[in-house]
Amino acid sequence: MLRRDALKLIGAGFLPFIISGKLKALNKFLESSLKASDFKKFTWGISSAAVQVEGAWDTDGKGPSIWDTFSKIKGKIKDGSTPETACDFYNRYPQDIEIIKQLGFGANRFSISWPRIIPLGTGQKNQNGIDFYNRVIDKSLEKGIEPWVTLYHWDLPQALEDRGGWTNREIVNWFSDYASLCAKSFGDRVKHWIVLNEPLSFTGLGYGIGYHAPGLKGLRHFLPAIHHAVLCQAEGGRVLRNEVANAVIGSAFSCSPIDPQHQSHRDEKAARRLDAFINRLFAEPTLGMGYPFDDLHFLKKIEKYMLPGDEEKMKFNFDFFGLQYYFRIVADFSIFNPILWANQVPPIKRHVPITEMNWEVYPDGMYRVLKQFSKYPVKEFVITENGAAFKDTLSDGQVNDIQRTNFFQDYLQDLLKAKNEGINVTGYFAWSLLDNFEWVEGFYPRFGLVYVDHKSQERIIKNSGKWFSEFLRE
Ligand code: BGC
Repeated sequence: MLRRDALKLIGAGFLPFIISGKLKALNKFLESSLKASDFKKFTWGISSAAVQVEGAWDTDGKGPSIWDTFSKIKGKIKDGSTPETACDFYNRYPQDIEIIKQLGFGANRFSISWPRIIPLGTGQKNQNGIDFYNRVIDKSLEKGIEPWVTLYHWDLPQALEDRGGWTNREIVNWFSDYASLCAKSFGDRVKHWIVLNEPLSFTGLGYGIGYHAPGLKGLRHFLPAIHHAVLCQAEGGRVLRNEVANAVIGSAFSCSPIDPQHQSHRDEKAARRLDAFINRLFAEPTLGMGYPFDDLHFLKKIEKYMLPGDEEKMKFNFDFFGLQYYFRIVADFSIFNPILWANQVPPIKRHVPITEMNWEVYPDGMYRVLKQFSKYPVKEFVITENGAAFKDTLSDGQVNDIQRTNFFQDYLQDLLKAKNEGINVTGYFAWSLLDNFEWVEGFYPRFGLVYVDHKSQERIIKNSGKWFSEFLRE
């Protein structure tokens, strides 16, 4: 062992382990002493989303989004909070971008709020909103941080929801115009674009089971929403390709490895269906493979919403595939449960380590999903989100979130394994910079590398953030 490693181990509180010879813990630490330089030609970034951090929900001409409306309905958000103020990023962005710099990240992924720049979703633009994003982009660039812009991270203008939202095919035109405004306003400085954030989440949770905004349920909402999101994903790509010189364009998909609970025919079938639903539903039509009808029979009904020529319009040749990985899914078959999503064994019943979201901590999944998706004709992968919520305590001005640090180290180790085996993964974005508005969960679970006191808006870099900054500096 090098002297430097030994000192590091002692510094990290490993002396008792060294003395007592608990080599497993020691090995884990050594294995996880990753080096950023092991990841060649790599983008390191941090991710956030407008609703979750900006606040200023009706400031300077912004129109309401479906999340402004939904969060005000009693009982929808667990702690009764709303994104009205969130982390006040709208006013505090210079400080927050400075923190990104301090942490050593080279890229800042954030989303544009559609109703901030087009308050009614179509027509009249709001220059104040555009100017805000110009300031964020310019500040990032001034600090040497590359802006990566997500066009849609779930905040549909309420005015468009009132016209049917994602269930109305007109959304393809609305989205196309919005994408074009973004391209024209920011394309001179923004080269990296992500069209949609997790289409399965916003269509499934928002239009399938009504858990997220706008709170609609049933296949009559879900199926058209899926199809229109697939069309918009490709259309957004085409608009950016035509209007932004040298654009690097991707879209971000939620991905999970899926295992059957038992090696039985029924559980294996449940696993295949969930895989089609979670991993293939949005990726395959984009890649020109059509919808995964083979394992998802209910999906056949989507044909009702398809017009001649749609198969072509669903495709787009993205420059990168944004892969978002948080947890694994273990499937079991149940005839009593019509909701596909629910055919899984909750991690708590499997007695595995979990996060505050009750998600399994499963680093191998990072390697497995990359392996699974590498079978597709994808040019490049970027991990556009990965992170964890744990119970954080602030004591003496410090947040010693060792579980989160371990989480990142372990997941990154698996990412490196995939990269070393030749999978072309070129970037990693941690979720998230700040403890923010976690949708229906409200403000607690905390995902940030930076602790936020939601009353005073004070920011305190957690130990996981300090670990990241050391790691990236080395
Ligand atoms: C979403 C984020 C969210 C995170 C943690 C992702 O699915 O893109 O907005 O905060 O998961 O739940």
